[in-house]
Amino acid sequence: MPIDVTRPYDDQNIFAKILRGEIPNRTVYEDDHALAFHDINPQAPHHILVIPKGAYVSWDDFSAKASDAEIAGFIRAVGHVAREAGMVEPGYRLLANIGADGGQEVPHLHIHIFAGKPLGLMIA
Ligand code: C5P
Repeated sequence: MPIDVTRPYDDQNIFAKILRGEIPNRTVYEDDHALAFHDINPQAPHHILVIPKGAYVSWDDFSAKASDAEIAGFIRAVGHVAREAGMVEPGYRLLANIGADGGQEVPHLHIHIFAGKPLGLMIA
């Protein structure tokens, strides 16, 4: 169900529960700023989600409110995960869905990393 990203952060969202360790996940990387784990419903041979540790509803919320250290740490974590997974060559795709028209379903910012095959054009 697409969400309204203008609503306040809901600390009962599924990724908040994953960050608190209340719901299991297949973690691939964790540091002070980010957690990366395998998507439970992969849309490509490799499909990893990277989420910030802070309580941010969406990319919009994060880019407006996060500190420079949080933003830098999170972006570096996304790059690190893809490099460590060996995705740089032959390549990968980053995606952030934002809001209802963007198709965002979980109200905690997440970057999708897709890889493992030629991905073609994927807009809608
Ligand atoms: O960008 P969007 O909000 O649509 O993506 C949510 C993603 O979170 C989906 O790809 C879904 O499979 C994933 N998910 C997950 N683990 C959960 C719940 C959702 O990996 N427990």
